Amino acid sequence: MKSANLCYSIRPSNPQAHLFEVRCTVRDADPAGQRFALPAWIPGSYLIRDFARHVVAIRAESAGKPVALEKIDKHTWRAAPLGKAQVLTVISEVYAWDLSVRGAHLDQTHAFFNGSSVFLRALGHEQRPCLVDIQRPLGTAFQDWRVATALPRAIGERGAARQHGFGLYRTASYDELIDHPAEMGTFTLAAFTACGVPHEIAISGRHDCDLTRLTTDLTRICEWQIRFFGEPAPMPRYLFLVTAVGDAYGGLEHRASTALLCARDDLPYPGMKGLPERYLTFLGLCSHEYFHAWNVKRIRPATFTAYNLDSENYTTLLWAFEGFTSYYDDLTLLRCGLIKAKKWLELVAKTIDRVQREPGRQRQTLAQSSFDAWTKYYRPDENTPNAVVNYYAKGALVALALDLTLRAETDSRVSLDDVMRTLWERHGERDDYRGPGVGDEDIRLIAEDLSGLDLRRFFADAVHGTPELALASLLKPFGIVLKRTAASATPTLGARTSNEGNDVRLATVYEGGPAQAAGLSAGDLLLAIDGLRVTPLGLERLLCRRTSGDTIRVHAFRRDELMEFSVQLGPPASDSHKLNRKGRVNPLRKRWLQGQRASPDAHSASIDPPLPHDTT
Ligand SMILES: [Zn+2]
Repeated sequence: MKSANLCYSIRPSNPQAHLFEVRCTVRDADPAGQRFALPAWIPGSYLIRDFARHVVAIRAESAGKPVALEKIDKHTWRAAPLGKAQVLTVISEVYAWDLSVRGAHLDQTHAFFNGSSVFLRALGHEQRPCLVDIQRPLGTAFQDWRVATALPRAIGERGAARQHGFGLYRTASYDELIDHPAEMGTFTLAAFTACGVPHEIAISGRHDCDLTRLTTDLTRICEWQIRFFGEPAPMPRYLFLVTAVGDAYGGLEHRASTALLCARDDLPYPGMKGLPERYLTFLGLCSHEYFHAWNVKRIRPATFTAYNLDSENYTTLLWAFEGFTSYYDDLTLLRCGLIKAKKWLELVAKTIDRVQREPGRQRQTLAQSSFDAWTKYYRPDENTPNAVVNYYAKGALVALALDLTLRAETDSRVSLDDVMRTLWERHGERDDYRGPGVGDEDIRLIAEDLSGLDLRRFFADAVHGTPELALASLLKPFGIVLKRTAASATPTLGARTSNEGNDVRLATVYEGGPAQAAGLSAGDLLLAIDGLRVTPLGLERLLCRRTSGDTIRVHAFRRDELMEFSVQLGPPASDSHKLNRKGRVNPLRKRWLQGQRASPDAHSASIDPPLPHDTT
C-alpha cells in the first residue's frame, strides 16, 4: 500500500458486535490540521441520514504517536496541526446494523457496506486516487468468505485482490470509492455477458434461486438497454448485488452495480412456470436500477455533477430521473419480449391508479416534489398523500404522455426514445467525454429541437402545474381506450385505514373526503359504526350495506378520549383504471410498443432487436 497518497482499509473487527474497523491514511496530511468527514447522505437516496452517528470510536496517529482529534460538527473531525505534511492515519470503529441498500450491515453470516457509511472523506484530497484494502475477519469461521463488488481490483499492486478475493482495490476518486457497495460472505454467484460486457449477480441470504432462469432473463434486459442507448456500454462490468430476506423490497443505483433487497420468494425457483407477479416485480426492479446506470449516474442533473455530501443537493428534475426510469423499467420488459402488451398495459394502469388515488397531485407540482424530496417524499407522514405527488409514478405518466405526444404529432418520426438518446449523446459521461449536467429546461429543449413542436404548454402543465394529464385523449390515436371504474360498489369514508390486530386505525384522512368533513383525523381508533364494533374484517361488511349519501354514526378514540362523529358517506372511489386495445392493427401503437421509428434508418435498425412475438 505504498504507491497511493490515500489508503483505506476495512475489516469486520467484531462481527457479533456489528463493528467494522476502518482506517484512512493520508500521506501528505494538511499540516494546519487535516479534516475528515462522513457523508450526510448517500447519492440516489435523498434524505439526510448522518452516517457519522454510527461512528462509535475514532482516533488518529502519526509516526506511531497519537494525534488529537477534535470533532467540529456532526460529521467532521479535525486532527491537531502536525507542523509539516506527514503521514496521518485515522482509525474508526463503525457500527453496522442497517439491513438496507443505503447503509452497512454486519454479523457472523455476512458483511455489506456502502462506502458512504464507512469511509471518511479526507477534505482536500477528494480528487485523488485511493487504494482500499478489504480485509477478511480474523478466525477460521470466515475462511470461505469471498468479496462481491464492482470496485476495480488494484492489479499490479502488491497485495492486489484476486477475483472475488480480499485485498487491494483501487478507485480514481472519493466519489468513485463510495459508489461501489461491497458484500463479504458466502453468497451465490452467477455470471453472464451482455453485449460483450461481463455481468455478475451475487445473492446473499437463504434462497433457492434458479440462476439459469435469472441470468437468461437479465441478459435480455441488459442487452436491450445497452442497445437502446447505443454500444458500447459505458460500464466495463456490472454487478447485481442482491440480499434475499423474508420480506423486503428496495434498490439503489450505482455506476457499475446496484444493491438490491428482495424477498426470497421474489426470485425464480427451479421448475417455475411462466412469470409470476413477484418475479415480474423483481425483474422490474433490476431493469429500473440498470437503466439508472445511464439515467442519473451518467446523465445527471446539473446540481449532481459534483455532489455536496455535507447537505441536501436540490434539483427540480427527479421526475425525469426517477419518473422516466420508471417508465422505461417495465417498457424494457415488454420490448425485450419478457412480457406481452396486455400485461404491460396492466402495469401502466396500476401506475395511473397510484397517482389518481392521492389528492396530493392537486397540491404539488412534479418540480416542487423533486425539490422537496428531502423533507417531503422521503419523510412521509399521515398527510403525505394529501400534500405530496409521487414523482416516480406521476413522472412515469409524464414520460408516457410526452412519448405519446411526440409520436402522434410526428407520425412516429420522433419519440421519447430519441430524447433519451440525445440526452445521452449531449449530457452523458463516458470515458472520452464528460457531458454537462442537465439543466431545468434541457429536456423540453431537446424534445422541441427533435420534433419541431412547441412544448412549453405541455411542460408548464405536466411538470410545473397540477392539471390532470390528458391520457385518455393522448392514448386514443394509438387505439387504446382508458377506462376509469370503481373497484368496489362500497361507499367510501375517504380515508386509508391500518389494521392493528383486531383494531382499525385511520392512517390518512383524504383531503375533501367524508371523514375529514365529519372531523375524523389520522390516528383516530375506530370503535363502532352505528353501534356495532369495527374490526378489520367487519368494516367493509358494515359499509357495503349502506349507499352513498347515507349518514353513519362513528365512535372513535382520539388518544384516550372517546368521540362521536356523524359521517355522510361518499360515492365509491372510482380510482381503478383499465387500458384496452381497440382495433387489430394500429401502426402508431405497433411502433410505440415495439420501439420502432417510422422509417427505420441504419441506426434505428441496429437498436431495435427482433422481438420473439408480436407485442402490439
Ligand atoms: Zn430509481
